[in-house]
Amino acid sequence: MNKTSDSTLNSLYHAVVKRNPGESEFHQAVREVFDSLGPVLRKYPEFGTHKIIERICEPERQIIFRVPWQDDAGQVQINRGFRVQFNSALGPFKGGLRFHPSVYLGIIKFLGFEQIFKNALTGLPIGGAKGGSDFDPKGRSDDEIMRFCQSFMTALHRNLGEHSDVPAGDIGVGTREIGYLFGQYKRLTGRYESGTFTGKGLDWGGAKVRKEATGYGAVFFLREMLAARGDTIEGKTCIVSGAGNVAIYAIEKLQQLGGKVVACSDSRGFIHDAHGLDLDLIKEIREVERHGIEEYVAHHKRASYTPNRRLWHVPCQIALPCATQNELGGDDATTLVQNGCIAVAEGANMPVTPDGMRILLNAGIAFGPGKAANAGGVATSALEMQQNASRDTWDFEFTETRLAEIMKGIHRRCHETAEEFGTPGNYVKGANTAGFIRVARAMVALGLI
Ligand code: NDP
Repeated sequence: MNKTSDSTLNSLYHAVVKRNPGESEFHQAVREVFDSLGPVLRKYPEFGTHKIIERICEPERQIIFRVPWQDDAGQVQINRGFRVQFNSALGPFKGGLRFHPSVYLGIIKFLGFEQIFKNALTGLPIGGAKGGSDFDPKGRSDDEIMRFCQSFMTALHRNLGEHSDVPAGDIGVGTREIGYLFGQYKRLTGRYESGTFTGKGLDWGGAKVRKEATGYGAVFFLREMLAARGDTIEGKTCIVSGAGNVAIYAIEKLQQLGGKVVACSDSRGFIHDAHGLDLDLIKEIREVERHGIEEYVAHHKRASYTPNRRLWHVPCQIALPCATQNELGGDDATTLVQNGCIAVAEGANMPVTPDGMRILLNAGIAFGPGKAANAGGVATSALEMQQNASRDTWDFEFTETRLAEIMKGIHRRCHETAEEFGTPGNYVKGANTAGFIRVARAMVALGLI
């Protein structure tokens, strides 16, 4: 019986690879979920009968479109846009947009696939989707960003709506880009439909704590993992990769809870400040000036900048990968273990490679997978939708308390499910299993759609 479901999953995986050639990140995300599903199929044979796995791996709709725009020199530029509407069994499609030159269908599909289970884990009524473009916003003027966003939205707007598909930000898409996208959506539809986007500015329909939510949420999840082991963040040395939205607010919450964050990075290198990072300065460099993290050392001579290198060898007890996929590999994981790291929580999506994950889990480190640990962003997006629908605005403290409760709930769900399925303390299995079961039940209930 056990062998049957494992060999079924194996052949389903090979079918996914064959059907989606060349999409290695998507294959990786599918493999990781499948690795948790054997016991689920044995407990719920109806999921097999209803072909839930085959259906869940096939997006409901994939939209690929041309995005032509003019740069400041008057030259025509052409990018490719994507929206993969993966699964709407639990609610409207929901997931961010990524603007980065590495974007192609396989990246958007891996992110959209993960998003299905992450959104399910929040317990909120949201389906899974993801989108983006191979557009590189780096070095582009505000006008160029606006023209690109307007062209992107001109192509996509018919497929969006507060009850159908609700995008948000991701790498390269923050409040500025959401503003231009929403503005063009409003112009084309003639409707001020705030609930069609989340991550909006506070003056035009945004929610307090949305900007901070993914980073704060990851630290709340970390706090719960440590509490389950009778430990706290207080006094721990921490490192955080990235210096974008997720990383900055993860650093902020770690510091507020007594952690000492000594290193962070961007795509070109990392900074190390043994006295603890000066977060106000990092915000100024990154959020206001939009410059590289290396500028930090011009203000703090005690700190060092190392170009072209990742930061995982900096000794720490807590590591939060908050930049991008596959940024922490097997060797990095071994180094973390050797240096005495006790906890890793994924602020980014799939930042730890399968090898890295195996090493961390085998070493008994508390490991929070992105599906669970970074779900605070999308959960707070759902709170933003709730406020838009009721034309209400909640204050910071109330919203942060809601976020903390949601992260506690996600942790509990993962923890209990891991125990129930015979892998206590394994949050990867817990998250995949709990997320999958919620979506699968809804798919069975809604019939063959
Ligand atoms: P940002 O664009 O704000 O920041 C991304 C950071 O990661 C930057 O410091 C960037 O450096 C660095 N980075 C990007 N690509 C690479 C790369 N290939 N190698 C090394 N560093 C890189 O994005 P976010 O902070 O919003 O997103 C970070 C991660 O968190 C992503 O995996 C995203 O999917 C995930 N996430 C984000 C959520 C959100 O609410 N924003 C929600 C849930 C998950 P540089 O500036 O030099 O490019």
